[in-house]
Amino acid sequence: MPNIDQDQALPKTLYIETTNRCNLKCRGCILYRGNPEPERTISLQQLSMITDQLPDLERAVLHGVGEPLLNPELAKMIRHLKKRKVYVLFNSNGILLDAGRRGALIDAGLDELRISLDAASAEGYQKMRDSAHFNHIIDNLHAFVQELHDRQAAGPRLSLWFLGTRDNITELSDLVRLAAHIGICEVYLQRLVYFQDDTGYGVARPEKTLRYADTAMESIENSRDIALELGVQLNASGLCDPMKSLRGQPDALYPWSKCYRPETLMYITATGNVLPCCIAPFATTDFSALILGNVFESSVKKIWCGAGYENFRKRLKTETPPKCCRGCGILWSL
Ligand code: SF4
Ligand code: SF4
Repeated sequence: MPNIDQDQALPKTLYIETTNRCNLKCRGCILYRGNPEPERTISLQQLSMITDQLPDLERAVLHGVGEPLLNPELAKMIRHLKKRKVYVLFNSNGILLDAGRRGALIDAGLDELRISLDAASAEGYQKMRDSAHFNHIIDNLHAFVQELHDRQAAGPRLSLWFLGTRDNITELSDLVRLAAHIGICEVYLQRLVYFQDDTGYGVARPEKTLRYADTAMESIENSRDIALELGVQLNASGLCDPMKSLRGQPDALYPWSKCYRPETLMYITATGNVLPCCIAPFATTDFSALILGNVFESSVKKIWCGAGYENFRKRLKTETPPKCCRGCGILWSL
């Protein structure tokens, strides 16, 4: 049993599902298959109870599975964290970004808002997200940029996040153009993560990945040229180059062993379960194997320094890592 007085430093980054409820069922999301956990929404009091145990917290990511704007206490949570000078961000599908919420997010001091938008047309959006909200979201974004400008607000920094598959990659260049038109300067290409131990669901299937798809590479190169011309930054998640993100490191020995996440960050679901990272629940059907503790049953420190985490970290350095890690670095980059 590890000695929790000689623990490894507590995480400075926290991912927390402020709610796992959502107003969409996107084809690339675990919710399309069905969340392995019951629907829950974290309260401000619960969030404070958790973050009070992380004295060196620097960065709070208020999303996981679910739409954070459905949490009625979200703005209060942001304010609470900003009082501690924590950098706060979250992903949203942007549907609920009405005038009231836009104002509340600006007033609360949100640092960064990432809009998940993996299409540049209403038709493409319908295919990926089974929703007719595309034009409404674009209107919300135009209004948000205008509001930031009118109020001369320093934040939140806005960006668009595009989950790339063989079905939608041809829309990336138009999304870059759309971002420039709206006045959003950053677009991120997110790689597709899919189960390693199942045939998958929706678009989360191995045959939809952009890896080895030459036409996809052409679309990305073309998008990169357009981004350069329009002054938009086109990156991949993890701040790396989009082409590198897709190639991964197939020749590296145990590529997953380079992962720093279980040493540096904690991911907490809306039910309080602690997982090693945000990729894990999308990579294996064996959800119970990912749970390293529960913050409503044990202290954050006990979990972080406990046997579950220690074993996970050890196995990550071996040739037979936990199931969820087997694709990392090979099928998608870290
Ligand atoms: S991808 Fe996001 S918006 Fe879509 S169903 Fe999942 S949590 Fe909701
Ligand atoms: S699934 Fe990938 S990102 Fe998550 S802990 Fe394993 S190697 Fe790291």
